[in-house]
Amino acid sequence: MTSKPVLLTVDDDPGVSRAVARDLRRRYGEAHRIVRASSGQEALEALKELKLRGEAVAAILADYRMPEMNGIEFLEQAMDLFPRARRALLTAYADTDAAIQAINLVDVDHYLLKPWDPPEEKLYPVVDALVETWRASADSAVEEIKIVGHRWSAPTYDARDFLARNAVPYRYYSIDEPEGRRLLDAAAADPTEIPVVITTEGRALLAPTPAEIAAAVGLTVDPVTDFYDLIVVGGGPAGLGSAVYGASEGLRTLLVERQAAGGQAGQSSRIENYLGFPDGVSGAQLTDRARRQAIKFGAEMLTARDVTALEVQGSARAVRFGDGSTIAAHAVILATGVSYRNLAATGCAELTGRGVYYGSAMTEAPECANRDVYIVGGANSAGQAAVFFSRHARSVTLVVRGESLHSSMSHYLIQQLEAIDNVHVRTRTTVGEAHGGEHLEGLRLDHADGTSEKVETSHLFIFIGAQPKTDWLDGVVERDEHGFVWTGPDLLLDGRRPTGWVLGRDPYYLESSVPGVFVAGDVRAQSVKRVASAVGEGAMAVTLVHRYLEER
Ligand SMILES: Cc1cc2nc3c(=O)[nH]c(=O)nc-3n(C[C@H](O)[C@H](O)[C@H](O)COP(=O)(O)OP(=O)(O)OC[C@H]3O[C@@H](n4cnc5c(N)ncnc54)[C@H](O)[C@@H]3O)c2cc1C
Repeated sequence: MTSKPVLLTVDDDPGVSRAVARDLRRRYGEAHRIVRASSGQEALEALKELKLRGEAVAAILADYRMPEMNGIEFLEQAMDLFPRARRALLTAYADTDAAIQAINLVDVDHYLLKPWDPPEEKLYPVVDALVETWRASADSAVEEIKIVGHRWSAPTYDARDFLARNAVPYRYYSIDEPEGRRLLDAAAADPTEIPVVITTEGRALLAPTPAEIAAAVGLTVDPVTDFYDLIVVGGGPAGLGSAVYGASEGLRTLLVERQAAGGQAGQSSRIENYLGFPDGVSGAQLTDRARRQAIKFGAEMLTARDVTALEVQGSARAVRFGDGSTIAAHAVILATGVSYRNLAATGCAELTGRGVYYGSAMTEAPECANRDVYIVGGANSAGQAAVFFSRHARSVTLVVRGESLHSSMSHYLIQQLEAIDNVHVRTRTTVGEAHGGEHLEGLRLDHADGTSEKVETSHLFIFIGAQPKTDWLDGVVERDEHGFVWTGPDLLLDGRRPTGWVLGRDPYYLESSVPGVFVAGDVRAQSVKRVASAVGEGAMAVTLVHRYLEER
C-alpha cells in the first residue's frame, strides 16, 4: 500500500508550528500526512527518514527566521532530498530581501505572511496550489520506478541519466546487491539484459530504449494531432523559449525533444550569468521552471523523439521522426543546439559511460566521493563542472590544452577555481589515452614538452567544445561548413536571395533559406552561445513566425 504524501512544516515557534499543523490537518489530513518540526535540522532528519522509507513529500512550508539554519538554508538542503516537493516560505512580514534570495536559491513557489488568518483565504489557496503542482509533476505518479543495473554498465548509466534529466524520480538497485538480484530474478532477466526498468505497475522492461522508457514512465512520446501551427525541434533554452512564447500567444505549439528538455543548459550545475538570478541557478531548476511554464500555456512536449528529416510540403513544413512517421505545421523553429565533440584519445570510446562521460553527468557525483576526478576542457562549462565536482570528489584536476585558462574561461570562474583547495589545473596538457577493464582505471596525460605521465582515476568528464548535428538538414536549408544553419541577412550573397527563395521579401532575421523555417540558439550560424541569447532568439523567432503567418 502506498503511504499518504507528506506535508511538512517547520517553525521554531512552538505556538506557530502547532497552529500551522492544526490548520493543515483540518483540511489536508485525510489525504496527507502532516509532519511537524521545530528546527531546520530536525526537519532535515525527518526528510531523510521519509526518503529512506520511500515516502513522497508533496510540499514543505518553512519559517524564514529560525536560529541556526534559516528557512532558505533549510529549503536548499531539503531540495537535495526531495527536489520536486513544492516549497513555501513563511515570513513574519514582507521581507523583500529574503524573498528575492529565496526565489534565486531555492525556487520558492509561494510566500505566506504570518499570521494567515483566516486560513480559508490565506493559507489553503496557497497550499492547494502547491499540492496541485506537485500532483501534476512526475513525482507523485512514478515514485516507485526501479532501475536495476550495474554502476559500470554504460546502458545503465544512460537510462539513469535519461530519467534524471527528465526529472523522473527512480530508485536504483545494483545487481551486486541482494535486492538487485531479487528484482532481476523476478523480472526473469539475466545480467546481460540490464538495465531492467520496473514501472510503478510492476511491468519490467529489459534493456529498453529511451523511447520505451519514456512511454513506460508517463512522458509524452506521441503527438495528439498531426498538424500544428508551430513545431519546435529541440528542447534546450531556445526551444523552451519558443514553446513558452508560441503557446502563450495562442499558437498550437508542439516541442519535440530527442533526449530531455534543458539541452546543454540542463546539464549545467550552476548558471551564474542568466539575468535575474544574482546567486546563479542550476540548469535543472531553470529547465523545470521553463518546462512547467510551457505546459501551463498549453504547449505539447514530446520526449525521446528524434527528428530525422525536414520536408517542404506546399505551404506546410513537415518533420519526420526516426520511426518514419511525420507531422506537419505552418511553421517550424529549429532549436537543436550543439553536442559535445568526441575526445579522440585511445580507449575513450570503449569506456564511455563506464568512467568516461561527456558533460557533467551529475548522476555520477555520489560515485566520485573520495576519488580523484579529471576534467578535460578549458571553457566555462569545464570550470563549472570542476566547481561542482570539487564538492564531491577528493580532488579535481582540470586538463587544459592551452597556456592558461584566461583566454577561454570567464574571470569570475577562474577566481572561484583558484579559491578551491582541491582543484588543480594542468595547462599545456592533453589526455593521450584512457585505459581500464570493466571501467576506467587510469589516464595517460601528454604534456606539451613531450613528456607523459600516468595517473589513476575512475572518472573523466569531457568538455571539449561542441558541434551542431544537422546532417539531416543537408540539402534542405543552407548551412555553413561546420553545419550551423544560416539565417536572415547572412543568406544574402551580394544582395541576392538564396536559391529557391520564392517570396518577394528577404528572409527575416532568424529565418532559414526555407520560408517558414526559423532557427534559434546555438545551432544558428553566428549566434552567441549563451542561455540568455538562446531564450531571446526563441522568443524572437515566434514573433517572426506570427509575421510569416500573417502574410500567407
Ligand atoms: C555544462 C555547460 C554549462 C554552461 N553554462 C553556461 C552559463 O553559465 N551561461 C550561459 O549563458 N551559457 C552556458 N552554457 C551554454 C548554454 O547552455 C547554451 O548556449 C544553450 O543551452 C544553447 O541553447 P539551445 O537551446 O540553442 O541549444 P541546446 O541547449 O544545445 O539544446 C538543444 C536541444 O535540442 C535537442 N535536439 C538536437 N537535435 C535534435 C533532433 N534532431 N530532434 C529532437 N531534438 C533534438 C537536444 O537533445 C537538446 O536538448 C553552458 C553549456 C554547458 C554544456
